[in-house]
Amino acid sequence: MHLLNAKVRHLGTENNLKIMLAIHDYLEEHGIEIKCNTQVDNIKKEKKNYTLELKGGDKITVPYVIAAPGRAGSEWFLDQCKALGLSYVSNQVDIGVRVEVPAQVFKPITDEVYEAKLMYRTKRYGDLVRTFCMNPNGYVVAENTDGIITVNGHSFSDPKRNSGNTNFALLVSNKFTEPFKEPHKYGKHIASLSNMLGGGVLVQRFGDLIKGRRTDASRLKKGWLRPTLSAIPGDLSLVLPKRHLDNIIEMIYALDKIAPGTANADTLLYGVEVKFYSARVALNSKLETALSNLFAIGDGAGITRGLSQASASGVAVAREISKRLNK
Ligand SMILES: Cc1cc2nc3c(=O)[nH]c(=O)nc-3n(C[C@H](O)[C@H](O)[C@H](O)COP(=O)(O)OP(=O)(O)OC[C@H]3O[C@@H](n4cnc5c(N)ncnc54)[C@H](O)[C@@H]3O)c2cc1C
Repeated sequence: MHLLNAKVRHLGTENNLKIMLAIHDYLEEHGIEIKCNTQVDNIKKEKKNYTLELKGGDKITVPYVIAAPGRAGSEWFLDQCKALGLSYVSNQVDIGVRVEVPAQVFKPITDEVYEAKLMYRTKRYGDLVRTFCMNPNGYVVAENTDGIITVNGHSFSDPKRNSGNTNFALLVSNKFTEPFKEPHKYGKHIASLSNMLGGGVLVQRFGDLIKGRRTDASRLKKGWLRPTLSAIPGDLSLVLPKRHLDNIIEMIYALDKIAPGTANADTLLYGVEVKFYSARVALNSKLETALSNLFAIGDGAGITRGLSQASASGVAVAREISKRLNK
């Protein structure tokens, strides 16, 4: 198992709103107009400018466009790229579960590194499985991506809001080869199976998964671990492909050696967690598409996978545009 040497800054869920408000106020003070709840239906290229066709029929014509649609808008943006004749590459999709254990199990590790980014190549298939988004004393949450309910996690910086549990994702990366080009759809399809069986996120005790039986409400109640998300007890083996499940089980046993207790029967697995990074539009080093003055940033453009990097990509493009404006 390989521990990545990564610098992590923990902001804390409760600080997000403060940061967003500060950005909003700063921009407003500088005369920037912000239009919320305004969906862009189409990006059209005019001679030198771009026209944004908004839902409801309004249009805005601008010389520069920065597309930052996020994961929820990535499919929409892919369609825009196709219509604009921009080339893109299909990225991978990462599929797995969110694991929840008592915080003590990972304490010796999380006290040292806060978030342990561990990578493991499974013996059975040679696939790469990794931990992602570790939340010491955090909470498991449901996430809605285009109507599909998947699972995620977060934690507060205020110790008074500690949950007593630690959660993290275990993800298996899938890179597809020709002719399949739509990993996004594959991920959504698997997530929709858990939605079909449980109406949302499913939760299963590790012990039940190993015994090949469903976790029901009574088995969940008998466990020592209190779930931080109220999910539907079920059977993840009816949702995840065998290969994913085998990889995840092998990784849990490997983790148990460095964090004893991870493979306890009461460990909770929530499914499914999917990280969509579907299409990455071809960009130059300034994050500009092949069309001049049309930039693409953030998770939806397939170039970032987190808050710091998404924000940094925005700052880089803003600096580039201000340079061009001041020429
Ligand atoms: C529950 C949860 C926990 C997370 N925890 C972490 C974490 O701990 N650390 C971390 O680094 N990252 C975390 N992330 C990921 C992080 O939120 C994203 O990486 C980041 O928000 C990406 O920023 P973005 O600007 O690219 O996209 P977003 O923040 O998704 O913003 C894109 C915006 O564009 C809008 N949009 C899309 N299409 C259109 C359209 N056609 N017209 C108009 N608007 C449109 C969307 O509605 C959205 O508001 C978490 C995500 C979730 C859901």
